[in-house]
Parts: sequence; C-alpha cells; structure tokens
Amino acid sequence: MKVCLIYDDIFLQHHMPPFHPESVDRLKAILEAIKNSKNIEGSIEWLKPRKATKQEVTLVHDEYYYDFIMNSKVGYLDSDTYLSEGTKEAALYAVGAVLTAIESITEERKRFFCLVRPPGHHAERDEAMGFCIFNNVAVGAEFAKSKGYKRSYIVDFDVHHGNGTQHIFQADPDVFYFSTHQSPLYPGTGRSSERGIGAGEGTTLNIPLRPGAGDAELIEIYSNDFVNSFNEFNPEILFVSAGYDLRDKDPLASLNVTKDGIRKIVNILLTTAKKIPVIFSLEGGYNLSALAESVVITIEEMIAND
Ligand SMILES: [Zn+2]
Repeated sequence: MKVCLIYDDIFLQHHMPPFHPESVDRLKAILEAIKNSKNIEGSIEWLKPRKATKQEVTLVHDEYYYDFIMNSKVGYLDSDTYLSEGTKEAALYAVGAVLTAIESITEERKRFFCLVRPPGHHAERDEAMGFCIFNNVAVGAEFAKSKGYKRSYIVDFDVHHGNGTQHIFQADPDVFYFSTHQSPLYPGTGRSSERGIGAGEGTTLNIPLRPGAGDAELIEIYSNDFVNSFNEFNPEILFVSAGYDLRDKDPLASLNVTKDGIRKIVNILLTTAKKIPVIFSLEGGYNLSALAESVVITIEEMIAND
C-alpha cells in the first residue's frame, strides 16, 4: 500500500505580493524536503490533481461568489488575500486535488496528502478570507457524500480557527468539525461555546488554546477530545485541514508545538481513523523549515500507519 501525494506545479502559479507569508516558497520547501527524505522515497505515489468544475465548487459556495472570483481582475480580494494571474486555475485545482483524492480511494489507497495552494479553511460560502479563495476541504466533504461517504469528520489543527469550514457545516449533522486553534488570534471565531446550530448542534467542537500552549496540551486534547468525539460520531472518511502554523517559531502565531508533537498528533489521527480513508490538505504554516519538516513527519507517519 502506498501513501498518495497530490500535487501539480500549477500551485506555483498563484502568486502573492512580495514579502507575503503565503508564498510559493512554502511548497518549494516542502517538495525539496520530500525529495531529500530517504525515509519516504519508494513508499509514496504521486498523483496529479484534476480541475474542479463550477458545479462542484458550488456544492458549498454561492454561485454568484464563484462567478465573482472568475470575473475578478488581478488585485486584493480582502486585506490579505490576493488574486494573481494564475490564482483562478490554482484555486480550482486545489479543490480538485481533494476531489482527486476521494475518487482515487481503493482498498490499496486510503492515505492522501494534497500539497496545495491557495489554502481553504477561512473561505466562506460567499467570501475570500485569510489567504483562502475556495474551501478545498469543505467542497471535499460535500462531494464525498455523493460518493457514498455519508458522515465526514474534519480535523483542523491549523493554529487559526477555520471559520469558513465551521460556518458551512454548522447546521449539518453529517459533517463533524473539530478545531484546535490559538485564541485570541485571527479570525476571532471558534469559541468553545460554538457547538453547531439546529440539526448540527453537537457536531462542531472548538478547543481554543492560550498562546504558549505546546505538545503536552495538544496531545492531551487529541488523545481525549478528538478520539472520543470521533468514535462517537463514527465517520466514514476523515479530512485533515493540515496547517502547520501551530509549530514553534511560526511567525504568525505563538503556540509551541514541536516536531515531536506533530508526529504524535498525526499518529493519534491515523491510528484512530485506522479503518477509513484519510485525506490531509495543506492549509497554513509560515516558517519554511518547520513547515517542510512537519509535512515530511506527517508523511512518514502516514507510511508507518498505512
Ligand atoms: Zn493558519
């Protein structure tokens, strides 16, 4: 069995203005680290993503928002999200990478990592936010339903709260959203009192963390809150909004998770979801060496727990 990495150079065609933290250098650093890793060579399979269609993107986004993006000219969409010449294609392929993962699931292939830009978890149904255009994982969870995966569980360990993903699924009892994130921090949502609404009450679980929280706190939360809610919900597929800005030394946040913490968290996710497909999709992570190291550790754990 091989771990599948989904990537295309098209993700390097999405450019942010100079000195923006969400740069092409992030993916370049990850690719270089994968190339130099002896531990994962031979145990991975590279897949090319396909492009998502309008019909697929609008499973979770408003049609007028899709049209707005497709008709947008180069420039800022919000105070920190930029649309460059290659952004529209990259964004459609970033969604498509998650769809490609779902379509590629077989008995032999159940572990996927989508190495994509732009990220997705801040994107709302009708709004680009926080470096995100379309919500890659959210479209994936909705698309998965049409492929027979009735209940999806989304883990979001990015240091920022995934406001877009939460809002899209807050009233949906079939998609569980679990987030650990620093508080206070952008975007300001994700209080522990936000637990879903209507039929979706109880299928949102937010665990805000104080600045400075590190491996011990995170491992405790993943060992208990994640494992218990996962087992109770009993999902058929697991999506991971894999943002590595929870690492120590990240320039945009102040948690202190080390590489050992990342290894343990990923191990908990994979052993808990042993029987079902698991799809990681890259979100944040802005210290290039910590980001690249953490992605390699994640892939090593995926290989070890295949
Ligand atoms: Zn983030």
